[in-house]
Amino acid sequence: WENISITPILDQDGNIKNFLAVKQDITERKNYEEEIIQLNQNLEQRILERTKELENSNLELELARNEADTANQAKSEFLSRMSHELRTPMNSILGFAQLLEFTELTEKQHKNLEYILKSGNHLLQLINEVLDIAKIEAGKVSVSLEPIELISVIQEVTDSVMPFAIDKSIEIHLPSDNLKKIYVSADLQRLKQILINLLNNAIKYNRKGGEVWITTESIQDHNERSFIRISIIDNGVGISEENLPKLFKPFERVGGNLETIEGTGLGLSVVEKLALLMRGKVGAESKVGEGSKFWIELPGSEANPNVLENLSESNELSISNQDTKGRLLLVEDNVSNIELIKELLRSLKPGIEVINTMYGLEAIQLTKEYKPSLILLDLNLPDTSGAKVLETLKNDPETKDLPIVVVSADATTKQMEFILSKGADQYITKPINVGQLIKIFDQYLKYTTYE
Ligand code: ADP
Repeated sequence: WENISITPILDQDGNIKNFLAVKQDITERKNYEEEIIQLNQNLEQRILERTKELENSNLELELARNEADTANQAKSEFLSRMSHELRTPMNSILGFAQLLEFTELTEKQHKNLEYILKSGNHLLQLINEVLDIAKIEAGKVSVSLEPIELISVIQEVTDSVMPFAIDKSIEIHLPSDNLKKIYVSADLQRLKQILINLLNNAIKYNRKGGEVWITTESIQDHNERSFIRISIIDNGVGISEENLPKLFKPFERVGGNLETIEGTGLGLSVVEKLALLMRGKVGAESKVGEGSKFWIELPGSEANPNVLENLSESNELSISNQDTKGRLLLVEDNVSNIELIKELLRSLKPGIEVINTMYGLEAIQLTKEYKPSLILLDLNLPDTSGAKVLETLKNDPETKDLPIVVVSADATTKQMEFILSKGADQYITKPINVGQLIKIFDQYLKYTTYE
């Protein structure tokens, strides 16, 4: 390849006399150009191929995501089922054991009963905590964050662990400025669960006559966001430095004489997961023989007047002596649960008349016929679902005002929210707590009498 420039050379009269040619060998440049064109073409081809590959892997990812979603769905259905299947028999075991406590027993029988209740409660705790962890990991625990007035919650949870503290002669000191209102952004039930867990530990792993302090302080993180740190401090056995990192891991129980102290090793693991879910964090410091400090930090918040009302509702459960009268429609298909509730009413609330059916459709008819003052409704029925019965009754002007309390072994938040949104007056989970049930009877069957 040559690049040529030819110039005519003129004589005096202006005629062309000669030509001057300047030639340059450009073979090498031409080769380069050729090569660049080739490369460009290759590049385009490669981009096309790559785009195709990306499209394919996007498709694969989409498929994998769909598969994972399905698997997740299956997992949460499995959890909900498990929760139901495990709690239903526990309901009978604990319910009947609680009932036996009200009968005359020999000392030996009483002792044996204590073992049943103790192991039953331990098993229930284990089931609840395993389910909690599994549900959080499956992303199935939703928290509703709202401004919560902290001191009332601290007071309430302290009250609930008080019998346990008194039993061990342990004094609990509340935050010193407990008149000041501090608000945190949290889920009320989950916050209580965390605090009860930490307080229980501070009592459990304390010595007789020990002390527990609850303190609150306002702190700021490096982004200047404000947090409230709640610390639960005890002067109990303490934890060695090498064991501290293990505390929040599932099934890790550390320290000596654990055989004598009830526990599952799951509590702190649930605490940590719940705190993270509420955009908070937890931590611990300790010295063997001197005591421990467990803290949780939660985002601070402004006040919300609605929440204060909720807090004033006490959760305390007690066996009431009120002479309750009324008519109860019990919609339940599990024979031992029916027996349990009937037995409970016979011995503690003889004034209540019980009508019972295992079938949802019959329940609707019976409701119209008898207008019961309270309906206890199980969700798993042989003919139709309890949710459908609930919907029908709450949409019928004739029956919509009758109180319906759903009793289900499905303790998932999703299910509870769903059922409450369909108009259920309350949702209680199995195993039935006898005190809680009597409180419900008192609430709904209080003023009704039948001829
Ligand atoms: P559990 O109490 O059911 O065994 P946790 O997850 O609540 O399970 O606690 C894990 C372990 O951490 C306990 O077994 C105990 O060894 C230790 N621990 C927790 N809280 C305290 C505390 N306040 N003082 C001493 N040890 C504690």
